[in-house]
Amino acid sequence: MKTPTGKFFVSFVVTVDDGAELLEPLSDPEAETGIDLGLKDFAVLRGGKVIDNPRFFRRLERKLKKSQRALSRKAKGSANRGKARLRVAKVHEKIKHTRSDWIDKQIKALVSENQALYVEDLHVKGLVRGRMAKSMLDAGFGMFLTRLESKASRAGRTFVKIDRYFPSTRLCSTCGALTGPSGLAGLKHRAWRCGCGAHHDRDVNAEINIRREGKRLVAAGLADT
Ligand SMILES: [Zn+2]
Repeated sequence: MKTPTGKFFVSFVVTVDDGAELLEPLSDPEAETGIDLGLKDFAVLRGGKVIDNPRFFRRLERKLKKSQRALSRKAKGSANRGKARLRVAKVHEKIKHTRSDWIDKQIKALVSENQALYVEDLHVKGLVRGRMAKSMLDAGFGMFLTRLESKASRAGRTFVKIDRYFPSTRLCSTCGALTGPSGLAGLKHRAWRCGCGAHHDRDVNAEINIRREGKRLVAAGLADT
């Protein structure tokens, strides 16, 4: 495969798992986390620990727009147009590699620190449409989920994907009632109070529900780990 900037890549699939990435099991029963993926923060983990959305994408995005504008000003068929097109392709490539490196770094930390990882199977394709598309794509959720699953399995960790229709945000983790914010309109509510009196941070509550549901599935033998 040749990229637009002239680099060659050869990719192949290695099917033999030699156990080289297997990690020592963590004995601490608390060493597990739900992962609530979002738009404001990339992810919220156990205890409200946050993985921030990386800022460098905004910077690279501005760079991309600038190079695209420059390209649009060049005359068709000119040598300068060819150079400008190459610059655009290089920024695209830089974004792709930066995102990939960043995701691998997050996954490495998550897998080494947790014996079990529970995450919602986001309907990324559905969410990508509409005005949130850009930040969703920036966040690279699809890439994150696929690589996390693969890395966790190679490390011998428990990895559970929760059904995307599980109401992790709406469910009150204190009383079990469906009183939380829902839908696109619900996204602007960072915190909410349930009728039972519990006051929740939306994402912290969701993480608790995801983790609980994941543990329930594992205990019931229903998780495809
Ligand atoms: Zn409640």
